[in-house]
Amino acid sequence: MASGIVNVCFDPRLNHDAIRQQVRERAAEPRPASSSIFVIGDAGGNFGSGARNLIALFARQREPIAIAALLHHDDCRAAAAGMRHNLSTSAKALQDALQAAGYDVPVLTGTVVTETSTIVWTDRPSTTSEVSTFRMPRMYGQ
Ligand SMILES: [Zn+2]
Repeated sequence: MASGIVNVCFDPRLNHDAIRQQVRERAAEPRPASSSIFVIGDAGGNFGSGARNLIALFARQREPIAIAALLHHDDCRAAAAGMRHNLSTSAKALQDALQAAGYDVPVLTGTVVTETSTIVWTDRPSTTSEVSTFRMPRMYGQ
């Protein structure tokens, strides 16, 4: 089993479980399902020390990495404050750190809809799937 890294903003509205679920679904497509998806938060989703240290930990423990993603989100305070780096710049920083540690894994990018924590993948803009949330079954009482 391999793990996954997801670099997002530290915004408290982002639902890590929902993000984890969507990344796990993507990871299961070409490669075996990931055992653990690590969601790392930094300003605006910039590549930072959390992701750097996680890669170092995986490398030390010879833990395979199945998927890596760097996500922005809408309505981002860090972006409004001018602190968020360009998405491709941050994705390349993550990619470079993975490669430097000996990992040949592509970095997926996307944007999270803050309100629902739904990921719109950059390479699949039209196939947004709603995060499955529990809803009370409708009772018609007939
Ligand atoms: Zn943000």
